Amino acid sequence: MDTLGKTITCRAAIAWERNSPLSIEEVQLEPPKAGEVRIKMTSSGICGSDNHILKGSLPGNFPLIPGHEGAGIVESIGEGVSSVKPGDKVLTLVVPQCRECNSCLAPKGNFCEKQDILPSSGLMLDGTSRFTCKGQEIYQAFRTSTFAEYTVVPEIAVAKIDDAAPMDKVCLLSCGMPTGYGAAIHSAKVRELPVCWCAP
Ligand SMILES: [Zn+2]
Ligand SMILES: [Zn+2]
Repeated sequence: MDTLGKTITCRAAIAWERNSPLSIEEVQLEPPKAGEVRIKMTSSGICGSDNHILKGSLPGNFPLIPGHEGAGIVESIGEGVSSVKPGDKVLTLVVPQCRECNSCLAPKGNFCEKQDILPSSGLMLDGTSRFTCKGQEIYQAFRTSTFAEYTVVPEIAVAKIDDAAPMDKVCLLSCGMPTGYGAAIHSAKVRELPVCWCAP
């Protein structure tokens, strides 16, 4: 199917309002604009932050397509995109890396100022969404929305991965695994003990 430059009709899971069950709907997804990447999703994890936004403990706008821990294959790229090309395997990033803001350039931390978690607008960097359903604009959770067959994300929120990556498992590297690893290594400063204190 030649989808290049065209609006794609596909399925996505939509939360029409806070604390409502997800509903599988047919949605329309626009082509990527400049600096954006359209991805055919192959797998997505379910992260606690998805639950937080669905339950309202993280403020967000509805109707919303949740999901940010995704793996997929680039379908097409917008003008000026240079880090990935169609056919590349990629992960979506809930914390993007613009590589030019104060947070990205600081030696410690990486909470890029172009993130969309706190606060969450649910819109792309130009203030619009690429998704509609039944004529209504649908918000994109954290500028990702991986609970969809296709999605559009900013180029700075995409990381190219190895061609041999197992696409059904690698989505966990997108958020859950580095979050847990970082909490253990950097926040808790877990270290190997020189002796085992529990030995008899
Ligand atoms: Zn997450
Ligand atoms: Zn940045």
